[in-house]
Amino acid sequence: MMDFDLFVIGGGSGGVRCARIAAGHGARVGVAEARFWGGTCVNVGCVPKKFMVMAAEYGATAEDARGFGWDILRNGHDWSALIAAKDREVSRLNGIYRRLLENAGAKIFDAKASFVDAHTLDVGGRRVTAERIVIATGGHPVGLGIPGAEHAAISDDIFVAKEMPKRVAVIGSGYIAVEFAGVFAGLGAQTHLVYRQPLPLRGFDEDLRVALAEALVQNGIILHPGTTPVAVTADGAGKQATLSNGTVLEVDMVFFATGRAPNTEGLNLGAAGVNVGARGEIAVGADLVTNVPHIYALGDVTDRMNLTPVATAEGHALADTLYGNRPREVSLEYVPTAVFSIPPIATVGPTEQQAAQSMEGIKIFMSRFTPMRHALTGRARKTLMKLIVDARTDKVVGAHMLGEDAPEIMQGLAVAIVAGATKADFDRTIGIHPSAAEEFVTLRTQTIRS
Ligand code: NDP
Repeated sequence: MMDFDLFVIGGGSGGVRCARIAAGHGARVGVAEARFWGGTCVNVGCVPKKFMVMAAEYGATAEDARGFGWDILRNGHDWSALIAAKDREVSRLNGIYRRLLENAGAKIFDAKASFVDAHTLDVGGRRVTAERIVIATGGHPVGLGIPGAEHAAISDDIFVAKEMPKRVAVIGSGYIAVEFAGVFAGLGAQTHLVYRQPLPLRGFDEDLRVALAEALVQNGIILHPGTTPVAVTADGAGKQATLSNGTVLEVDMVFFATGRAPNTEGLNLGAAGVNVGARGEIAVGADLVTNVPHIYALGDVTDRMNLTPVATAEGHALADTLYGNRPREVSLEYVPTAVFSIPPIATVGPTEQQAAQSMEGIKIFMSRFTPMRHALTGRARKTLMKLIVDARTDKVVGAHMLGEDAPEIMQGLAVAIVAGATKADFDRTIGIHPSAAEEFVTLRTQTIRS
């Protein structure tokens, strides 16, 4: 008899959910985490990042309040107070994750696990055997292999930085780059955003990308499109980022936000016969099974859709399938996502460009307006909302928004879209007035592309 029915490697969002639910179904579960319970999201990702975005937003909110009659004196921002408050909340969440597992009856190991053979793991020097094994080890940030790269920071470093940089060059224009550019600029740093595309956020809807670039400039961020850094140097107190167009940016921090790679090194996957791809990712289908039938992988280590709620949904579905007599797979078709830029972006379904390529006919409904709040603040900030409709079936297949509260609004729209709502369903829904969200149910004029 094996020591465990299920052993989960990795105590991040996906691994913890899988272990907890499987243990709740009565399986004998072990779970190992070498770094921190809650993984990237809780410790060096979504949660502390969102606190930082909120901190950055308060500065502008204090300014905006003047438009409503407030006279607020801003005395500057205390970075160390923010980091301390964030640390307190993160350690509270660490404890919750541990306790959730213990209360569910899982055995937890604060240790690194690696394969000895297909059913045996070395967990912190101890051998354990398991009928089934789940790899949920997540990913890590990767910088650029350019001269002087060792002088640059990655996202993990920001969360423990002793000081806020006063001048920063953010490299990349994906989720992390755009989010942290907003944080730095909002907290008062001179912020450069250096990216190789003509517009930020490759892969997102073009109208959103254009509107985002405008919003970034309005927030004081200096954009360097179509460029990449070729070298980083450190000279005394400062750092220099030399760009491909010859510009040299003199800053306090060069921040690589240039993507993440799966954590598979050190797992000794070869001993179990588990295949990995070129980026170290573990290939799985919707059933989350690797090429070894009793070994599974989920979340960022599979490098498909690297989002916390996808990993938790996968962990839950796998545990229910294996031990809960409720087999199911997670659909990655209409996964809503948000970028916590300032203002934020939220989206579900294909972009207009993707829909135009894959569908026979589409209709676009779009609106761009000044949100009510800014009628009084005078802040030049616009909201963009867009619906993509399948012209054949009238189904709404995509919704995109840049503007305040976009993530809060998009979650509900995602339910409607997953449920197959048509444009006529949107049209017969009564709006909530006055709100920005009501615009999504009052869009009547089709946007005609020439
Ligand atoms: P992304 O893949 O989103 O973006 C990487 C950025 O780095 C892109 O702008 C890319 O440019 C650029 N880049 C990559 N290689 C190079 C290179 N050699 N030279 C110049 N530029 C380069 O990665 P992130 O690090 O921002 O985030 C990783 C993932 O984590 C996200 O994709 C997302 O899945 C997840 N995440 C989700 C969040 C959320 O839900 N809010 C928040 C943060 C992360 P190009 O576009 O040209 O390839």
